Amino acid sequence: MIIMMMSNNKQLEPRRKTRKKSRRRLRKPIIFLALVLSSIAIIMSAIAASEHMNVRSAGMNTASVVIPKLNGGNEKNTEQGIIPGESEQEQQTDAPSASGSDSEAKDALPENSQEPESQADSSANATKPAKDSKASVPKVVYLTFDDGPSKYTDDIVAILNEHGIHATFFVIGSQIKGREDSLKAASEQGNYIGLHSMTHDKNILYKSGSSAKFLKEFSKVQGMVEEITGTAPWLIRAPYGSMPQIGKEFRNDIVKAGFKMWDWTIDSKDWKYTNHPDKVMQEIKSQTHRDVEVILLHEKKQTVEVLPQIIEYLTNKGYAFAVYKPEQHFSVNFADDQRL
Ligand SMILES: [Zn+2]
Repeated sequence: MIIMMMSNNKQLEPRRKTRKKSRRRLRKPIIFLALVLSSIAIIMSAIAASEHMNVRSAGMNTASVVIPKLNGGNEKNTEQGIIPGESEQEQQTDAPSASGSDSEAKDALPENSQEPESQADSSANATKPAKDSKASVPKVVYLTFDDGPSKYTDDIVAILNEHGIHATFFVIGSQIKGREDSLKAASEQGNYIGLHSMTHDKNILYKSGSSAKFLKEFSKVQGMVEEITGTAPWLIRAPYGSMPQIGKEFRNDIVKAGFKMWDWTIDSKDWKYTNHPDKVMQEIKSQTHRDVEVILLHEKKQTVEVLPQIIEYLTNKGYAFAVYKPEQHFSVNFADDQRL
């Protein structure tokens, strides 16, 4: 079309020159010129349009260049799609280590304030010809002291401090008066103060078969401890243990009240070995074999005497000492009631 218009333009040019000489025919050349100019304008615009199309097609080429970018975007999306997969794999990798009965103890260990020292103890043990082949496995022991506070509380806390470890104390409400400072100091120095009723009286706590008096006593001692330490404990220990006096209905009530209840895995029987701390040690040695142990001890003279040996023995067996932490709670009760 452009060629045709251009050729027309060239063909008409001589005629235009001749018509310029005639004024009478002036209108026609003007119209013709207008036509020519408009033709040129059309041609130019056509060329411009053509160029613009080229620009646009170039733009399309640019767009086609963008496509790899979009592909790149897709690749990124794919990568993003991989990332959650990787994290799932990580979670799956973590999952097995978090499962199992010992998981709580393993979880508890890193957050145990005694970890560095415990690790130091463990590594020290590793250099010894330990009979225990599981020396590298993180084993945890909870020392628990019942029936305080007493005249021995300060001594026990002092021994724990000397070894850089903490323990869990289950205190009796009727024992607290006059020993508030000992209780407060024990708590402030990193030990956990648990609850052990007000009276420790079997007849009052269990004879009716109802949980009412039991729970009333624990609520009261909880308030007393909170007043002294500033923290309301929710971990209780039933006097004489939860078996056989606490049945399922009773446990349901304890759960409803919001308490957690610990029995023990090792009974040191220390309360009856007056003047025989060596027998306390023998009891513990004969019962220590689990990855997680909770040792029942009492605030007794013979217990204070043998405590350094107990700590040394457990350290040599590769145990780290832990103190109860509500956020790391795990069940330790004879009924294996996971709610408690
Ligand atoms: Zn007791």
